[in-house]
Amino acid sequence: MGSSITLNRLSKTYPSGHRAVHDVSLHLDAGEFLVLLGPSGCGKSTLLRMVAGLETITAGQLLLDQRPANDLPPSERDVAMIFQNFALYPTMTAAENIAFPLAARGDDEHAAAQAVNTVADRLGIRSLLSRTPAQLSGGERQRVAMGRAIIRRPSVFLMDEPLSSLDARLRVRLRTEILSVVRRTGSTTVYVTHDQAEAMALGDRIAVLNDGALQQIGTPDELYNLPANAFVASFVGTPRINLVHGTLYAPIDGPMTISLGSQKLLLPREMARTHQLLRVVQGQQLLVGLRPEALRVSSTTTPYERPLTATVTHVEYQGHETLLHVTVGALTADPPRTVFDHEDLNDTGSPLTSAVRTLLSRVRKPQSNQPLHTAQAAPPLPQHYQVGELVLRARQGTNYSVGDLLPVLVDMRALMLFDAKGHRVFPHPTHLQAF
Ligand code: ADP
Ligand code: MG
Repeated sequence: MGSSITLNRLSKTYPSGHRAVHDVSLHLDAGEFLVLLGPSGCGKSTLLRMVAGLETITAGQLLLDQRPANDLPPSERDVAMIFQNFALYPTMTAAENIAFPLAARGDDEHAAAQAVNTVADRLGIRSLLSRTPAQLSGGERQRVAMGRAIIRRPSVFLMDEPLSSLDARLRVRLRTEILSVVRRTGSTTVYVTHDQAEAMALGDRIAVLNDGALQQIGTPDELYNLPANAFVASFVGTPRINLVHGTLYAPIDGPMTISLGSQKLLLPREMARTHQLLRVVQGQQLLVGLRPEALRVSSTTTPYERPLTATVTHVEYQGHETLLHVTVGALTADPPRTVFDHEDLNDTGSPLTSAVRTLLSRVRKPQSNQPLHTAQAAPPLPQHYQVGELVLRARQGTNYSVGDLLPVLVDMRALMLFDAKGHRVFPHPTHLQAF
């Protein structure tokens, strides 16, 4: 049976002064499978190596089965780890490679051979056992490596991007196999990947890391529909969520609106309960998040939809779907970088203004042939603002051309709002049932 794993405000600063992991707290129950997701360089391997005992912990506490483990040598942690390029012993057969950990601890030869067969059956490599690594394909070698890691049923199984060197088709097939094999061992498993699609396909629970800091832990559904911040919203899902600048107006005597620059969205009255909560951010620069499926081309509105006029800037054929790139006169943005509670984004100015400044500096530069305004005569924008594209899925069976003017509807129930630091303010974190 696996060990529970608890990270309590774990941090790692390398001797170079680089802070790779910052204040990460999370808990895995014994036997749980957790996916650790984040972009390259965000600290995933560092975190895993601290759990394995291959990297010292600079601050915080690691508990294995509720016992302090910060200073436990790797050999006493009962942890197995596999990497992207896992080295097998080239002169040994697959069977000998898999049996190696058992032989090393002096297990009975007959029992070891039986264990190898069981593991090989589960991994579908029984017929390959007499081959050497050179006689195996990349995917087969990775299965042998898996077999070697799980044969002694480690309490903790750490997998650091184990599939990223394989081709796309093999990756998809192996990831589901891995999941079922690992589940049956009962080992507590942390699976690291930078691939959000892989994480979503695998994860019961996914922990998202960025800039060394934990952003959110949740099910794939929670990360997609209720992202804690703009980073998670933009990291999870393809095509990426559309993020545009908007300002909320909440007059005492009239309906609430979100201004997207040249056009605005009227909030449905049914969102009234949320209205009071939203007043807090009125007048502030917000990020409006619209997933592609929150937008559709139509002029027939339902009660929860609000119209925008869009100009087609690019048509992207994808085979199973066609993506429309349009502009609605709004300013697009990347999510703000991770802000640690106690620090400002900038040495000067208030946190809010500097965060806004960072946002504005990251606004995408326009392509030269990109129209800057929609048909709805947009007021001229200051120079440092740039109009960007929104992406939505095209309606089946309709042809679109660059320059077409389209009626686009926004499903207001799918709208997300983030404050200048990127934290989600709508749907409200403590008020999820807006409707
Ligand atoms: P990931 O696995 O998410 O790609 P890593 O944990 O490997 O990220 O690295 C996180 C950050 O720490 C990176 O910026 C990397 O350059 C840095 N880093 C990794 N190892 C060391 C080291 N030994 N010394 C200094 N910096 C390191
Ligand atoms: Mg790594």
